[in-house]
Amino acid sequence: MALTKEDVLRLAQENNVKFVRLQFVDILGTVKNVAITVEQLEKALDGEMMFDGSSIEGFVRIEESDMYLKPDYDTFLVLPWRPQDGAVARLICDVYTPEGKPFDGCPRGTLKRMLAKAAELGYTMNVGPECEFFLFHKDEKGKPTTITHDEGGYFDLAPVDMGENARRDMVLTLEKMGFEIEASHHEVAEGQHEIDFKYADALRTADNIVTFKTVVRTIAQMHNLHATFMPKPVFGINGSGMHTNVSLFKNGQNAFFDPNGEYQLSKDAMYFIGGIVKHARSIAAITNPLVNSYKRLVPGYEAPVYVAWSPKNRSPLIRIPAKRGMSTRIELRNPDPACNPYLALTVILAAGLDGILNKIEPPAPTNRNIYDMTEEERIAEGIASLPGSLQEALEEMKKSELVREALGEHIFSKYVEAKTAEWDDYRTKVTQWELDNYLARY
Ligand code: GLN
Ligand code: MG
Ligand code: MG
Ligand code: MG
Repeated sequence: MALTKEDVLRLAQENNVKFVRLQFVDILGTVKNVAITVEQLEKALDGEMMFDGSSIEGFVRIEESDMYLKPDYDTFLVLPWRPQDGAVARLICDVYTPEGKPFDGCPRGTLKRMLAKAAELGYTMNVGPECEFFLFHKDEKGKPTTITHDEGGYFDLAPVDMGENARRDMVLTLEKMGFEIEASHHEVAEGQHEIDFKYADALRTADNIVTFKTVVRTIAQMHNLHATFMPKPVFGINGSGMHTNVSLFKNGQNAFFDPNGEYQLSKDAMYFIGGIVKHARSIAAITNPLVNSYKRLVPGYEAPVYVAWSPKNRSPLIRIPAKRGMSTRIELRNPDPACNPYLALTVILAAGLDGILNKIEPPAPTNRNIYDMTEEERIAEGIASLPGSLQEALEEMKKSELVREALGEHIFSKYVEAKTAEWDDYRTKVTQWELDNYLARY
């Protein structure tokens, strides 16, 4: 699908569109909108809509705050949950400077640059994400709680599962928006769900993840529930991950598949794994961006803790799903749905390409359960751990030339700055755990 400007104008008219949201994300992945009326659409499609970037995380200082939005015509969509007479549509945009250059602080532009590097080598990147989330009740004041209907359902006379109904509505809405839903199911934890949509090229998938999260939150709201992509909202039960299935294609073929290779994987696949293993600790601050992300990456909850890969076992950082041929892919299991998908796919691709370009052999796969190994056994096999905290992840990121180059100086430094402030804010707070353990004892 490649829509022209005329197509978009026609679609807007046919669908009775009155408002158009020009959408982009800041470096933290938060969605931003500039809403225009349909009368302004032509001007917007010509990339002439300006906005003030100075108040947005990771953008610019006051004195250089004028930014331009250039819509990607193919992302035109009517929002099905808004009134259909005087409908609302959205367009995902790239951010440009007043000089007409792609802006260094635009995460979507950053992913595009990395994809262009891959394209020079003949590769396109395909990605299929598995987003998990919780549905919680709200309190009388409308504030989110961590109470699930699953628990409450125990006391209910009429066993109506609000969560299942909400999920059904999410799937139907996503389908109306052109998503192909491959699976949708209740996850292991109470109140936890997963909806998987079909893979696409990396840019489209990053766009889709952003759209997906908006839809899930909006539909939950309409069911009077709160949907959260926070990685570990409740201690003692599974957290929410975003398993990321990645493959590279070359000349229309899956470049990870080799019927004669070991495990039927190609050299490219092996080196890509080698690159991810090498850089997993350095890219963690991007793939697992919150203080809370590291409370998910602990033993016992199906989330990866160690840097290892396996063609069989389900526990390591990288798993190879059984499908081969065009579906050959690696499943990276540490990313969580709080990440900025544009930046996460940028650094994952950077790490994998580094593996391919420098022929980085992956370590031997671990087929036994790493969680059953002693620390000595892990050290003997050279199995590192993922960072244990956002602070540790930031220390690793700061040392990484690969991440600096992949993100560009602007995003790299703004990101480290914002996340260091987040960590400092957290580390200076006195927590309930400290009061429970120290207040009476000392
Ligand atoms: N929720 C688990 C995680 O944190 C994944 C569970 C699964 O999909 N097998 O990654
Ligand atoms: Mg899954
Ligand atoms: Mg899952
Ligand atoms: Mg999975």
